[in-house]
Amino acid sequence: MQTIIAQSHVSARPSVFAQQDAYKPAPIPCYFRRGASTSPSALGRAQLAGNPTRVIVVAAAATTAAGPASIPHWKQAINELDKPRDQRKVMICQVAPAVRVAIAECFGLAPGATTPGQLAESLRRLGFDMVFDTLYGADLTIMEEGTELIHRLQSSLEANPHGEEPLPMFTSCCPGWVALLEKSYPDLIPYVSSCKSPQMMLGAMVKTYLAEKRGISPNDICMVSIMPCVRKQGEADRDWFCSSGAGVRDVDHVITTTELGSILKERNINLPELPEGDWDQPLGTGSGAGVIFGTTGGVMEAALRTAYELVTKQPLPRLNLSEVRGMDGIKETEVKMVPPAGSKFAELVAARAAAKAVDEAAASAGAIKWDGGAGFSNDEGANGLTLRVAVANGLGNAKKLLTKMQSGECKYDFVEIMACPAGCVGGGGQPRSSDKQITAKRQQAIYNLDERSTIRRSHENPAIQTAYQDFLGEPNGPKAHELLHTHYVPGGVETSE
Ligand code: SF4
Repeated sequence: MQTIIAQSHVSARPSVFAQQDAYKPAPIPCYFRRGASTSPSALGRAQLAGNPTRVIVVAAAATTAAGPASIPHWKQAINELDKPRDQRKVMICQVAPAVRVAIAECFGLAPGATTPGQLAESLRRLGFDMVFDTLYGADLTIMEEGTELIHRLQSSLEANPHGEEPLPMFTSCCPGWVALLEKSYPDLIPYVSSCKSPQMMLGAMVKTYLAEKRGISPNDICMVSIMPCVRKQGEADRDWFCSSGAGVRDVDHVITTTELGSILKERNINLPELPEGDWDQPLGTGSGAGVIFGTTGGVMEAALRTAYELVTKQPLPRLNLSEVRGMDGIKETEVKMVPPAGSKFAELVAARAAAKAVDEAAASAGAIKWDGGAGFSNDEGANGLTLRVAVANGLGNAKKLLTKMQSGECKYDFVEIMACPAGCVGGGGQPRSSDKQITAKRQQAIYNLDERSTIRRSHENPAIQTAYQDFLGEPNGPKAHELLHTHYVPGGVETSE
């Protein structure tokens, strides 16, 4: 087996998008977000003082998923939590990767100075009945997205030389990117993974898998997400995220990191002094791959840790993919993968290599319709393929990358886009800081957590393996598709922001 991970060369090839001009999105009815914007509460105003842009964004995003439109998400969640236990719903929360490193800043400490266990304990003291980890949702996302990527690659190889399966595949876990896609790049919708984000996957699992396991009616569960992101509120509002039945939302409310910090302080829950708490099971175990979702390049790195093994049947020799780490706005690399001899993938790659001359002749004649697989190579005669990947953070960088791809200036097979600079560690719901290095420090804290994880690949998470065995079936199978995948709406679903 040979593995080469190296900086890629940007080559001038025909644009895969230009060749897909014939694509016309199927008509899909437009949905509009329910409810109206709301004024930030006194708590919110205090948190956001001196940041008028943030006030506007939060006000627009703070429409409600499951309650009166005039009450922001965090307030609805607290109102439910504060009811007597025998009169309230079962209160369940999940915590995103980037929250666990930034929440310490709300208490005047450096990123990562408090532990995930202390955070779990704080949420239990706040009154939640169960505390789950969005890392579990991230691992599920990798299982589904990695499998989807492999299917797209296989399908492309099988359809050689003029297949219709669209590559490159784009990640889908960032609602800021999805909003840009739907509004400005609707023709690219078929290229975007159909996977829900980790937040929404975990919400769907709580209201189906967990509800079934524990014998709780989904309607009696209040699911609250603690997120670094104001966009996650709009995502939770999407009308079709009701996996357990019409009108029963997978995620009822979203609280940002900053809001949680203020709530904990207001209730005298001093996070830095708390003992280590436990996460609840079966949705409270996550891998290091799930942790790195919290920063730019992390989704790509996590996906490659699993996709590489699915193709080669060997573990990725170097887990820390430095080529997609760091703060550069656009990063790119190549990963060489050699499927084992005799495998279906090896056969397909060999067939692809044999047909390459035909492709090249067609391309030179200008007749080629699709070239998504043209970059696969059988270098060194080992029937390997080379996956070209790119990572962009910040919408400006995303637009630059898309422009280059559309013009044919560069070409990739798999692309991660996160809307916020530095990814979720720099999300709009994170604490404000005058430290220009704050996102880099949060990123390092994320990498430290990954390094300390005993499980660092999503597919090795035993809780995920159990869920597929007992409930979901195969990754990308019918049940997984029904619960863990979504669709996009040309033009978008939001009327504000
Ligand atoms: S990158 Fe920003 S908009 Fe996208 S999911 Fe993360 S915090 Fe939200």
